[in-house]
Parts: sequence; structure tokens; C-alpha cells
Amino acid sequence: MKTITVAKGDGIGPEIMNATLNIIKASGAQVQFEEISVGEKVYLSGNTSGISPDAWESIRRNKVFLKAPITTPQGGGYKSLNVTMRKTLGLYANVRPCNSLHPFVVTKHPVMDVVIVRENEEDLYAGIEHQQTDDVVQCLKLISRPGCEKIIRYAFEYAKQYGRKKVTCFSKDNIMKQTDGLFHKVFKEVAAEYSDIENEHWIVDIGAAKLADTPEYFDVVVMPNLYGDILSDVAAQITGSVGMAGSSNIGASCAMFEAIHGSAPDIAGKNIANPSGLLQGAILMLKHIGEIESAEKIMNAWLTTIESGVHTQDIYTEGSSKQLVGTKEFAETVIANLDKQPKTLPAVNFEGHGAFIPPKATEKKPAVKELLGIDVFVDDREKNPNKVAEKLQSIELEGVKLEMITNRGIKVWPNGFDETYCTNHWRCRFKPEGDQKIDKSQIVSLLGNAITKDVDVIKTENLYSFDGELAFSLGQGQ
Ligand code: NAD
Repeated sequence: MKTITVAKGDGIGPEIMNATLNIIKASGAQVQFEEISVGEKVYLSGNTSGISPDAWESIRRNKVFLKAPITTPQGGGYKSLNVTMRKTLGLYANVRPCNSLHPFVVTKHPVMDVVIVRENEEDLYAGIEHQQTDDVVQCLKLISRPGCEKIIRYAFEYAKQYGRKKVTCFSKDNIMKQTDGLFHKVFKEVAAEYSDIENEHWIVDIGAAKLADTPEYFDVVVMPNLYGDILSDVAAQITGSVGMAGSSNIGASCAMFEAIHGSAPDIAGKNIANPSGLLQGAILMLKHIGEIESAEKIMNAWLTTIESGVHTQDIYTEGSSKQLVGTKEFAETVIANLDKQPKTLPAVNFEGHGAFIPPKATEKKPAVKELLGIDVFVDDREKNPNKVAEKLQSIELEGVKLEMITNRGIKVWPNGFDETYCTNHWRCRFKPEGDQKIDKSQIVSLLGNAITKDVDVIKTENLYSFDGELAFSLGQGQ
């Protein structure tokens, strides 16, 4: 008997979790539950992480965690427990199947069956943010090659195992050539290994528009963290209700399953929440641990319930729905339908849908890295870029010269335009002259000069090439 760690969470969490656990128990799944407490109560008891060491121990021992939504208190330095858990446990793949249940759940997209595979650990969610000048704050977007490779391989392996035909990649590599560029590049490399699965890439803005307008065009869609966060909610919502979708968070050793929605405090304690999202998460969990028969039984009972018109208020539509029920009664109906098959919606067959070993990234031999220059970021209230350049030229070294200044990425010196708005945040690029090289001791000298000349350096970035390929962006307009 497999032990699952369970957290009932906040808001509607306890109601939808009780409903879900009752359905799992009634299905005959060979599982037992170990309850832990996470979320609001833990935060407010003074633990800013929202989770106790005992709770971590349970999750790490059982390796499978079914979690109801939790409330992150606003302000007060509380970190999102969801992000902490995904990253601490290395749950790199967030998988969100979104399909419509036409004509039983009202949707503009009757033939939608999309799986969003979202990278779960990197991107802007590294949460590394700094204020650098009076006017400018920064958030670091970190994308790693192993991070890209793991999630992209996951998407292709998922497609292979579940008989899906196409994997689409969304990125914004026309603008972010290094970060999103790496994601797209690794996508092309990995896609080449899966000749039986169609692949394509869309720039995320037009891809998002296409997904919202014509979701039936897509099959499996893989994307970096931020786009995936936003677009998986869009995809779930356009199936009919955000309350209907579940998600899995998969890592090399642990996995966490949940609904995609939040704790819905506006409807908590009223027995009106739809437990379907968490139930879908639980079905993904049962598949993951090999309880295929129970997963299939619950899914077919749930489809039967939806198609019989027994609906919670979020999907209840006068005319097409038959009976408005509460959370508890919805779960009781699913339990009563446990041996039934849906008549109009296709019954599911989960044969072969067990867990697969999450793919690993391949080891790459280290590239030859060469230092080519340095970007010195400066805080200066001066409005005229030529004056900033004059000041920065005063710290130049023998053979290391100021090449360019940008402001919010756009080149403003040399030959800037008066029309360009400048903040007090300047990126000043220094490069060695001609064929000369630059080394780190010269960087130290440059920064030493900056102190002497009262240049307010807020940070620096080294400019490298890797295996001879330039590995930094040019200034816009350079
Ligand atoms: P939410 O998803 O909780 O609610 C958005 C809207 O959808 C509300 O009107 C709500 O009533 C409705 N809704 C959500 N789930 C429903 C369900 N199962 N049945 C019927 N209606 C449902 O989003 P929010 O209001 O932005 O966030 C509330 C809290 O949840 C916040 O503290 C947030 O941090 C947290 N949150 C947690 C998670 C998680 O634990 N994974 C995810 C998102 C938000």
C-alpha cells in the first residue's frame, strides 16, 4: 500500500481535499494518506517558509504529495510555498492537461485537447531582484542548458508515451536571443531525436493568441516558466472553468499533484467549490504511482457525472446543466458513478499511462571561455549621454576603451538620438582595443579608477565568448 503525503491547505482546500480523498478511497486504490500542515496557519505561526521540518520529512519519505491550494499572506516577506516546494524538491516539469468537455461544459472551444508542459524552476522565477538606482529595478532571468534539456525531453517523452503527435515550443527568442534563444536551440536539438513526433516553434505572443483563438491546433506545448504559468491558466480557463484543471509537478525523485487554481477565499466554507481540479490532480497522481485502474475508474465516473449535468455552480448553466450541487454532493455523485462509463464523452483508457523515468540532461564538455570585455553599470542622474561618456572615458585603461553606452538596452552613445528617453541607469561597455586581450586584473583597475573618479558603479557583467561564439547581446541600435 503506497503512502501519500496530503495537505488540506487553505480557503476551499479542506472541502475539495475531503471530496477528493473520499473518491480515491471509494475507488479501491491501494493508497493510504499521511496528513501534514502547510500554508497560512504555518506562516502566521511565525514560520515565513509556510512549511515545518516534519512536513518536509514526510514529503521526502513518501515522495508523492497531493496538495490542496494554499493562501500566501500578502506582504510581510512571506515566500510563495508553491515556488519553494517546486524548486527545493527539483520538480522541474509542470504538466497541465487542458481539454474541453463539450457540450456538457460551456466553452467556445469544443475540440480542445492541449497539454501545457511548463518549465518549473528557472526563468524570472529565480526571484533574484535588486533595486539598482532611484528609478530602476532588475529581475534576473536565468535559463540553463540542463534546465531546458530536461523539460524539453520531458515534453517529447510525454508525447511518445501518451501517443501525442506534435510538440510545439513557445519562446521569445527574437528579442531574448541568449535566454529564450537557448531554449529554442535546445528544442531543435532534442526534437531532432524524435523523428516520429512533429515539432514546431512559435514566438510566444502570436503563439498565445493562436492558443486562445484556435486551441485545437495544438497538442503538447512546451515553454519556459513565466509563459507557461500564464498560458496554462489561459488554456484551463478556455476549456470552461479554471476550477476543472489539475497539474503534476514532476522531479527526478519526488512529485507533487494539485489543482491549478488557488484557495478561492471568496467561496471558502460554503460547500460550493468545484473539487474537479484537485480530483484531476489526484488522477494524474494515481497514474504516476501505477494505480492505473483506479485512475481510469475515477476519470470515467467523473466524465459520467459531468455529462449527466450534475454541476457545481462555477460550471452550472441554466438549460444545459441538470442539477446544481455542492462540493460534497458532487463527490458523492462521482462515487455513485464509479462503475459507470460516460455515454457521449469518450471513455478513457489509461493502459500504458504509468509514470516514466524523468529524462536527465546529457553531460556536455565544458566550452572554451574567453573574456572579451566588461559591461559596467552606472547610476548617474546626468541626462546627457555624451557627458556620461566623457566621465566614463576618464576611467579607461591603456588598451581598454569605452565602446558603447546603452540606457535600458538602447544605444545612446556614440551617435545616440536626442529623442531617446534616458533613466539614471547606464550600461557602459569596455573592450580591449584591436587584437589586444583583457584580463580580470584590468577589470579591477578599471573599477579602481571608477572609485577615484567618483563613478557610481552598481554592478558589472563580464562579456564572454564560448567556443568562439559571442555570448552577450549587442546594444539595440548598435
Ligand atoms: P483563485 O484561483 O483562488 O480564485 C480565482 C477565482 O476563481 C475566484 O473567483 C474563485 O472563487 C474561483 N475559483 C477558484 N477555484 C475554484 C473552484 N475550485 N470552484 C469554483 N470556483 C473557483 O485565485 P486568487 O483569488 O487569485 O488567489 C487566492 C489565493 O490562492 C491567493 O492567496 C493565492 O496566492 C493562492 N494561490 C494558490 C495556488 C496554489 O496553492 N497552487 C495557486 C494560485 C493561487
